[in-house]
Amino acid sequence: MHKNIDHVLVSAEQITDKAKELGRQITEEYKERKEVPLLVALLKGSVPFLSELAKHIELDIQIDFMDVSSYEGTESIGDIKINLDLHCSVKGVSILLVEDIVDTGRTLKEVTRLLKNKGAKEVKVVSLLDKPDRRVVDIKADYVGFTIPNEFVVGFGLDYNQKYRNLPYIGVLKKEIYE
Ligand code: 5GP
Repeated sequence: MHKNIDHVLVSAEQITDKAKELGRQITEEYKERKEVPLLVALLKGSVPFLSELAKHIELDIQIDFMDVSSYEGTESIGDIKINLDLHCSVKGVSILLVEDIVDTGRTLKEVTRLLKNKGAKEVKVVSLLDKPDRRVVDIKADYVGFTIPNEFVVGFGLDYNQKYRNLPYIGVLKKEIYE
């Protein structure tokens, strides 16, 4: 275990198993509805989860990326800034948004709204982690890997000051690292 990690919340093996399970479930449900989703991954945190999950989706999916951030220090909390936009058109497309974690829910709500405004047929969400205690807007992921308590986590895509994204597990940082 990394020296700055206090404890592991979700192990590498649990993540692999869960990605397999979610991949199967997504495959079945989309097959049943005769839909093939465009996977839209939000950079950078969802990249490890996307690559783990996509292996287990047995549909002819396409993959695209978006990078968004919130406008800081303005009144317009909830508005998002697009740093990198999609390459393909989403008009009439079924989108499956891939997220690392749903925290306040603001990012998901705004991105969902944006994609629908661009003409997406539907927007569903798969998130590796869910922190329901922190939610401030009414939004729920359609597929969730793990529901976790209100702790700041890193690893498997999630960072602290851009570090720890490469850890193969989800862990809680030692307090002295961020205090
Ligand atoms: P939301 O808009 O739901 O509040 O925020 C979602 C984003 O905040 C996530 O995509 C992630 O980048 C960041 N975030 C929320 N909770 C955590 C956490 O516990 N650890 C890390 N590293 N990032 C988090």
